[in-house]
Amino acid sequence: MNTQTRTPPKRSPDVAFVPMLAEVARIEVVSATFRRFTLTGPELHTVADNRFDQRFKILFPVPGSDITELPLDVLVDSDDWYGAWRELDNAVRPPMRTYTVRTVRPEASEFDVDIALHGRLGPASAWALDASVGDRIIVCVPHTGYTGGFHGGVDWRPPAEVGRVLIAGDETALPAVSGILERLPAGARGIAVVEVPDATDAQALSQPPRGVELRVVARGDTAVGTALIPAVHAAAAELLDAPDASAAVLEDVDIDAGLLWEVPTDAQGDPLLAKAPFYAWLAGEAQPIKELRRHLVSERGVDRKAVAFMGYWRRGRAEM
Ligand SMILES: Cc1cc2nc3c(=O)[nH]c(=O)nc-3n(C[C@H](O)[C@H](O)[C@H](O)COP(=O)(O)OP(=O)(O)OC[C@H]3O[C@@H](n4cnc5c(N)ncnc54)[C@H](O)[C@@H]3O)c2cc1C
Repeated sequence: MNTQTRTPPKRSPDVAFVPMLAEVARIEVVSATFRRFTLTGPELHTVADNRFDQRFKILFPVPGSDITELPLDVLVDSDDWYGAWRELDNAVRPPMRTYTVRTVRPEASEFDVDIALHGRLGPASAWALDASVGDRIIVCVPHTGYTGGFHGGVDWRPPAEVGRVLIAGDETALPAVSGILERLPAGARGIAVVEVPDATDAQALSQPPRGVELRVVARGDTAVGTALIPAVHAAAAELLDAPDASAAVLEDVDIDAGLLWEVPTDAQGDPLLAKAPFYAWLAGEAQPIKELRRHLVSERGVDRKAVAFMGYWRRGRAEM
């Protein structure tokens, strides 16, 4: 099947995210850990360019198969693609994983995704190691035809007025951090800390505006979070006043039982605070992110309505 000539269906203006067939147009080895995949397809000019940490889903083919062998009339063309996906037999159901939209080029009907390799432990990373130009996947992305306003899936939602920002994460959050740094207002102030496996991975990052200092820490062979935690503690000490003895005691989040995810917004996706002296965005492996959130809120007294924290993955656990 020729991906480029397949006629896309008419999309409903009421649906924020839609599945689209995509083909690998280019692959760039960005650094020791990152591969950048440029995806193209007949509908990709309608991918909304929301930037920041816009997330989307990828459905990867089961090894040895091509995604176009699946019933695309329901998986790509229908509004109930998720129901159709769930009903597929385990043996053929394409694994679904979450990624960040890196750069959108509607004029070329393309967008990029930066995938951090972590061996053959999971279907996404294994696909990224083996993929070639022309390989096909299904992406579920925010589309420009949606008329309902905010698409969702962007968790950088700071108060309209913020003093300083702290942005922190591991390599899985690096594409999101880049998207945030590219879009921060020119006058933003604060610190961004990114932990990566290898020092060359800094090449995958965008540069921040002048008032935001970017610190990249390489953890080498040590456990994820080993370099991130002390670097974020140090950044917090620089950005915040002395620890607050009356700081809130947080209820524990059991990261084995559920998702570690809290974005302080209301039902419309608007920030809970109009104004704050400090705002933190933390994303990456659940354990260090949980520890960093505890440090900021319980030890340093940061208002929890000014801290967004997201467990992007869990050690030893597949995404689903
Ligand atoms: C909102 C959001 C945005 C994300 N954006 C990106 C992105 O742009 N780029 C990116 O690379 N990742 C991103 N991630 C993380 C990515 O979804 C996970 O790493 C995912 O688990 C990879 O799927 P997999 O099939 O390779 O591994 P899975 O099948 O999910 O897991 C298999 C095993 O691999 C381990 N594992 C998973 N990820 C890693 C890792 N990075 N390092 C070491 N071990 C790992 C798991 O703990 C498990 O033991 C994002 C996650 C979220 C929630």
